[in-house]
Amino acid sequence: MTKHVVITGANRGIGLGFVRHYLAKGDRVTACCRRPGEASALIQLAEIHANLNIIQLDVTDESSLRALPQHLNDTAIDILINNAGYYGPKGIGFGKLRAEEWQKVLAVNTIAPIMITQTCYPMLRKANNAKVICISSKMGSMADNQSGGSYLYRSSKAGLNAALKSLAIDLRSEAIFCVVFHPGWVQTDMGGPNALITVNEAVEQMATCIDRLDASQSGQFLNFDGKVIPW
Ligand code: NDP
Repeated sequence: MTKHVVITGANRGIGLGFVRHYLAKGDRVTACCRRPGEASALIQLAEIHANLNIIQLDVTDESSLRALPQHLNDTAIDILINNAGYYGPKGIGFGKLRAEEWQKVLAVNTIAPIMITQTCYPMLRKANNAKVICISSKMGSMADNQSGGSYLYRSSKAGLNAALKSLAIDLRSEAIFCVVFHPGWVQTDMGGPNALITVNEAVEQMATCIDRLDASQSGQFLNFDGKVIPW
């Protein structure tokens, strides 16, 4: 059955990969990005896919978030993929940390995915067994942290993981399933050219896991191949 999939940060990288994947399956896709007029890859896709809707969304901007239900015509959302992410300035370690930069990273990676889910909640409730997917990172795993540093990004993804756990518990009774994924080290602007896997490989494997996602996995931190990652 055709699904409605909503994806943030959809103009490039992993988000764009998800757009391509679900369009190829024939699903209806709402691609959210900060500057639709400059989203050339999405504009090209929209020329050949009538089931692609591109909408403006800066995930940290409250007025942009308030306009979301209207942009979505209040229709049912089967899969919400909170993908937009920001690493923050590189190479700023302990001793040089600045609260303002840290708050920006937290706003995009930790707060926005939950606020977007809250805004989309009435539309998620309209679907049967809706799924909320947040793209996190293994760098948010405390068990995995052997090298220190990356305070801004690590804490933002650890915070996202904690919030997602509560979300999964709170939405369990309505059969809305929620997980956080580590997408792998992926060849994108953020992952860089030396990353281990392509966007396509990451997306195909996560999409298989999303298809199979059920109540037993809701609230878990999953690797892109479906293996559970320690918090
Ligand atoms: P990219 O840097 O390639 O893309 C980031 C996307 O997020 C862009 O579409 C960007 O939009 C969007 N974005 C950033 N800030 C905002 C904002 N305020 N509002 C709306 N959109 C925003 O990253 P990836 O594709 O690699 O990353 C996707 C997700 O995967 C992120 O959450 C990232 O943390 C996570 N991840 C990636 C890994 C990797 O190896 N690549 C590893 C682990 C996790 P714009 O073009 O407007 O800047």
